[in-house]
Amino acid sequence: MNYINSPTEKIKFKNKEIYLKRDDLLDKHFSGNKARKFYYYLVNDLTNIDKIISFGSAQANSLYSLSVLGKIREINIDFYVNHISSYLKENPHGNYKKAIENGVNIIEDKNFDFKTYELKENEILIEEGARVKEAQFGIKILAQEITKWAEEKKIEKLKIFLPSGTGTTALFLQKHLKFEVYTVSCVGGSEYLKKQFFSLEKDEKYHPKIIDMPKKYHFGKLYKEFFEIYNELLETTKIEFDLLYDPLGFLSLEQYLKSSKKEEEILYIHQGGILGNESMKPRYERKFNK
Ligand SMILES: *Cc1c(COP(=O)(O)O)cnc(C)c1O
Repeated sequence: MNYINSPTEKIKFKNKEIYLKRDDLLDKHFSGNKARKFYYYLVNDLTNIDKIISFGSAQANSLYSLSVLGKIREINIDFYVNHISSYLKENPHGNYKKAIENGVNIIEDKNFDFKTYELKENEILIEEGARVKEAQFGIKILAQEITKWAEEKKIEKLKIFLPSGTGTTALFLQKHLKFEVYTVSCVGGSEYLKKQFFSLEKDEKYHPKIIDMPKKYHFGKLYKEFFEIYNELLETTKIEFDLLYDPLGFLSLEQYLKSSKKEEEILYIHQGGILGNESMKPRYERKFNK
């Protein structure tokens, strides 16, 4: 399995050639930014650990990636969710379905709180979305790949773009890259994201630049402009992007390009997450197609 060094290719976006780092192609089952964030647990010694505790939404990308990790490392996973919709229980699909197939123990508990969970000796807890220090291990490797690639290509003026959830990936990337990292908050607005950065890194000089959007977007909600940009990218590049984060990622890049310098190069990071489209795409089609 080739977990490291994903390919980089050129695509055209809004009449500009940009580079695309294909972290979605890292591996068939263990890819995208969750693979980077969980890489620490993939390659380091876990002999005294027989269970990973985590939590989040029942359709989270991290749930699926964790399930693959658990399978490879033969470690049990208890994944707590506050709520599983009856529709999902009756029609398992996407990340939820695959995680169950991989043996994750998904526990519905509306009162679960990781802060009060009593961790047993052979357990480790991974916070929602892998918002943990250990994530730095794999993201540093991603940064090194980018640095090496840019050197080989003799690119000096490079800006990195990626959309954020917890901001963990963007922050650790910036920490290990000399190029500026730009991101947009998909989950709770720029203020929330800034707080996330501070909780992982006190020194603001390592914080990525946050692009403010003129409109407020709510995570998981359907927006016409999201579906349009997703379809535009699919048509022009033949590459599928995720429907939760990437539409806002590209909208923020579009906004940035309007005032950017011509001579600088852009590298957008495709962070995977395509499995989630299995549920998002039908929702979009129902809402906007007919
Ligand atoms: C989890 C995820 C993100 C957000 O990553 P953070 O490190 O939490 O900011 C972005 N894109 C995709 C496809 C993801 O799965």
